[in-house]
Amino acid sequence: MGIGITHLGSGSRGNATIVSSGGCNVLVDCGFSLKQTEKRLDIAGFEPNSIDSIVVTHHHKDHSGSALRASKKWGSRLHCNLVTASKMDWDLVEECTTFGNLERVQFSSELSMLPVPVPHDDADNVALIASDSNGDRAAIVTDLGEAPQDLIKHLSGCNHISIEANYDHHRLVGGPYPDSLKRRISGRGGHLSNRQAGEILLEVLHDDLESIVLCHLSEKNNAPHLAESEVLMAIGDQFAGNISISKQLGPEFSYWTGQTEPNSIVAA
Ligand SMILES: [Zn+2]
Ligand SMILES: [Zn+2]
Repeated sequence: MGIGITHLGSGSRGNATIVSSGGCNVLVDCGFSLKQTEKRLDIAGFEPNSIDSIVVTHHHKDHSGSALRASKKWGSRLHCNLVTASKMDWDLVEECTTFGNLERVQFSSELSMLPVPVPHDDADNVALIASDSNGDRAAIVTDLGEAPQDLIKHLSGCNHISIEANYDHHRLVGGPYPDSLKRRISGRGGHLSNRQAGEILLEVLHDDLESIVLCHLSEKNNAPHLAESEVLMAIGDQFAGNISISKQLGPEFSYWTGQTEPNSIVAA
């Protein structure tokens, strides 16, 4: 069976990732405009009404943007936690279904996700660990200042990990942002640096980790080659799988658990 992971794009201007298994498709975050999301779904080869559910990790606009409109238009059930629902002012009966931290959400007989809380600014954000009925696991982890032990525990054993590598430390420190914003980004409730992403991956690395996607790269404080080289420096010797970067403009590829190489997506 396996789990498919397709990033429609990732960064501070929007995030959305399709997680699929056994014909069930779940969109993790819906931070682009509805029009953009539908355009990107089409490029990736998905009909909008084939999206069974939408999960919103937290209320920030780059993750929640068009989620409610998309769920109504496509007939997809919207899932989030209570804080996100209340910050978004979504109706708990009519508009969304809430989950608790570490409470498994079952989307089909094949596909479920475990929401794991992570520290992030004024948000109640979650990382998501998807599982299929064969025991394959894939993680989507963005928008966190550091990785709590619970997250490390659940990342260990994943076959695929998509994790943010938001900023290069030197670029952030020397860059144009005011000091207060620099402190917020690099603080406990901010974002992961390239180095932190590398350290986390090194800690959870195991023989069955097949693929890694680095995502949510800052366009001002990072660059794909910096993120990839810093992460590979941390894990290189011990990682035999494949690594890619999800950029703001996507989709460019899909990964499936059980295979190392990505399938590339070519816009028609
Ligand atoms: Zn974000
Ligand atoms: Zn955020």
